[in-house]
Amino acid sequence: MVDVPKVCRAAPATNAGSMNYTITCREDYPVPEPKEGELLVKLNFCGVCQSDHHMMAGDWGLGPAPGVDCTGHEGAGVVAKLGPGVDPAKWKIGDRVGITPVNWTCGECEFCNNGHETICLKKSYIANAVNGTYTQYPTVHESWAIRIPDNVDDAQAAPFMCSGGTAYTATKAAGAKPGDTIVVFGAGGGVGHMVTQFCKADGFNVIGIDVGDAKRKVAEHAGAAHFLDVTKVADKDLPAEVRKLSPDGLGAHAVIVAAGNPKAYANAPGLLRPLGVIVAVGIPAAGTAIAGADPALVTFAGIQIRGILVTSRVDMADALRYLADGKVKENVEVVPFAEFPATLAAVAESKTSGRKVIDYSK
Ligand SMILES: [Zn+2]
Ligand SMILES: [Zn+2]
Repeated sequence: MVDVPKVCRAAPATNAGSMNYTITCREDYPVPEPKEGELLVKLNFCGVCQSDHHMMAGDWGLGPAPGVDCTGHEGAGVVAKLGPGVDPAKWKIGDRVGITPVNWTCGECEFCNNGHETICLKKSYIANAVNGTYTQYPTVHESWAIRIPDNVDDAQAAPFMCSGGTAYTATKAAGAKPGDTIVVFGAGGGVGHMVTQFCKADGFNVIGIDVGDAKRKVAEHAGAAHFLDVTKVADKDLPAEVRKLSPDGLGAHAVIVAAGNPKAYANAPGLLRPLGVIVAVGIPAAGTAIAGADPALVTFAGIQIRGILVTSRVDMADALRYLADGKVKENVEVVPFAEFPATLAAVAESKTSGRKVIDYSK
């Protein structure tokens, strides 16, 4: 049995949906009843993602729905209760389960049926349509509850539900072959250090770009063969530096922008070889121009821009195999529940390396 209390730990926000939101740790947050088709989940760990800040601030133009005050979209724990209509042969109380950024998709629209279910026309997102993983007892539709492999622990699984899956899909979107050169913007960050590992596992030559020595260490540990520190290399010199580090001198086959920094997008086109691909993953605040280059650069070189939004269930299953096989590993720092507000503030300002994970039991 998994105990289901009336109230639980949570870090809800006041002024949800505005830049003035604040989150506070509470021990008395109501535990909801799972609705039709939903699982009530008891989380052990919750990853803290920069998107949590944007979702709660609403500065992507995608704020929380009325009544949603817990952000967060990456968690791991166990099924605590089945909602009406959930098949007890499929889910049992105590089953290990992960929560990703998606809560539900229709399974019927054009995008659900062409392999892009995360942009389903009727989707509901965690922390947008329903409360997220900043409460220890969130709900998730059973169709998007993710099974966690036996040999993967919850502290790894929680952040992987967003950063690992997203990194896998982003790496796939680069369309690269072993030996190809890939630039990863934000290579020392939560998503970027996972992109770097997937690229390394697939045999790519990774040039990590990020800020400062702490991020350099994380990026190099993740498998970046080269690292460019933007505090030491000027923007105008990045194209020449990247060409030097690509074996044939032509530049990168793909630039994966895993940073939410507008400058990363501005610099990306200039680092590519002809027919290069920009994979857009990081999301700066609304109002940033993508690929801030002269359109002639894009046209003459046949450059493509591909956006990817988190990860499908098929990709998540593939990505989890890399994790279970030990080919990739989240660089996790576990922090106690009481440090939720300070941790989110640091992550929002890109001051952390790797991934911070909240332990609900500490
Ligand atoms: Zn995330
Ligand atoms: Zn759909």
